[in-house]
Amino acid sequence: MNETTTAPAATRVMPVGDTSDVPHIIIVGGGAGGLELATRLGDKLGRKKKAQISLIERARTHVWKPLLHEIAAGSMDVSRHEVEYQAQGYWHGFQFRYGEMTGIDSKKQLVYLAATFDEEGRQITPVRSFRYDMLIIAIGCVGNDFGTPGVNEYAIMLDTPEEAERFNRRLINACVRAYAQPEPIRPGQLHVAIIGAGATGTELAAELHQTTRGVVAFRLDQIDPEKDIEISLIEAAPRILPALPERISEAVTKALLDLHVEIRTGLPVTAVTAEGVKLSDGSFIPSELVVWAAGVKGPDVLAKLDGLEVSRSNQLVVTDTLQTTRDPNIFAFGDCAYLVPKGASTPVPPRAQAAHQEASHLYTEILRKLRGEPLRPFKYRDFGSLVSLGEYSTVGSLMGFIGGRNLFVEGLFARLMYRSLYKMHEMALHGPGKVFLDTLSRMLTRRTEPVVKLH
Ligand SMILES: Cc1cc2nc3c(=O)[nH]c(=O)nc-3n(C[C@H](O)[C@H](O)[C@H](O)COP(=O)(O)OP(=O)(O)OC[C@H]3O[C@@H](n4cnc5c(N)ncnc54)[C@H](O)[C@@H]3O)c2cc1C
Repeated sequence: MNETTTAPAATRVMPVGDTSDVPHIIIVGGGAGGLELATRLGDKLGRKKKAQISLIERARTHVWKPLLHEIAAGSMDVSRHEVEYQAQGYWHGFQFRYGEMTGIDSKKQLVYLAATFDEEGRQITPVRSFRYDMLIIAIGCVGNDFGTPGVNEYAIMLDTPEEAERFNRRLINACVRAYAQPEPIRPGQLHVAIIGAGATGTELAAELHQTTRGVVAFRLDQIDPEKDIEISLIEAAPRILPALPERISEAVTKALLDLHVEIRTGLPVTAVTAEGVKLSDGSFIPSELVVWAAGVKGPDVLAKLDGLEVSRSNQLVVTDTLQTTRDPNIFAFGDCAYLVPKGASTPVPPRAQAAHQEASHLYTEILRKLRGEPLRPFKYRDFGSLVSLGEYSTVGSLMGFIGGRNLFVEGLFARLMYRSLYKMHEMALHGPGKVFLDTLSRMLTRRTEPVVKLH
């Protein structure tokens, strides 16, 4: 099943700098997990030249992925939350290597990178390869359309900040178009269909409800949000949030129905067209704005990594030490890794809290490995699940909170807990002082800027 990648013809093996007598640790993917690990290893080893730490990443800036639905809805200004990889590397002792990993050669211990180009098509970086002593892959996952016709052409997946922004532009343009046109608004013209009612789709539905009203409030007065703007949440499972406890699902269903979000459950989508979404019972939802948030899989490149084992969902299969099963010198973690913990029947879920825990675990274990000590197994701890309905509410459950029992939470407390996951990520990247100042500055400027993006 696995293909083997051959070295691209024009590959240039890049020198790793003046520290080639120390181990070279390469992390591929600077997301929720990878950037935390690169920062911590850079601070601990890179700055003191005890190891060379490199981060390979195909983007130039980092945005924490769980914020993407807020970017798509227009309630968040991306520039306030972006981290520049080059600067982060400079401040925290790691080398940033810009480019997309296209393959590896595990015998020669090389990672291959594609060339990069600017908007005018001029090359920025050439095809390159880097030698590693230890390789850590953390490239996340991508939306899975399960072969559904029309998804690629007509729906948007929220995999990257660019896609989230593209959806937001589509939404604002649709509102401005509807406002300026002489004829009445067509059925489906301002209808958003969100396919997949996991946490991402559900949170997006609530966030969109709020921001579309915000956009219209800026004098797009030919649009009546109650009549013209519709939001449908479509789920193949019998209830929304199928992976979360029933009580959370019920509370969120009620909150969304109160907002007049249409909920269609138990109905797989059979096709997406330019006009809307076809369901398995033959019904059709007219909708010119479609988001696909129904499941994830590993990026295609993982199946081409020199024979490393992949799961059915194309994630790298790892042991409990987060080493890939066929090459102990290559680690994988976060969404791109497939780990079924001992005694468990399901894999560690693709969530930011798992990526964060794994990054912390690998940090200590890599230090142990460099000291020649044996690696210890990773133990995932599920702290619970929280679903944010934007300004309306936050609900969820905290696991093993009081006396080992699960605690149902909602309101302000739940919101603070929800935000704390992002704060933990920011702390791992910047430390407490900068996080405090950034939070304060965002709170102050929120009062002087529109709460929704209008362009
Ligand atoms: C809208 C949304 C909301 C979410 N909300 C929550 C939530 O509330 N709570 C929660 O726990 N989880 C949430 N998640 C899931 C969470 O975002 C992921 O589990 C988490 O980001 C995984 O971290 P990661 O480091 O494995 O991958 P990512 O954060 O996805 O990072 C992967 C990185 O790898 C880079 N990359 C990809 N391919 C290559 C390549 N070939 N070469 C080089 N670089 C590459 C990408 O550019 C990216 O920077 C949400 C996800 C989405 C989309």
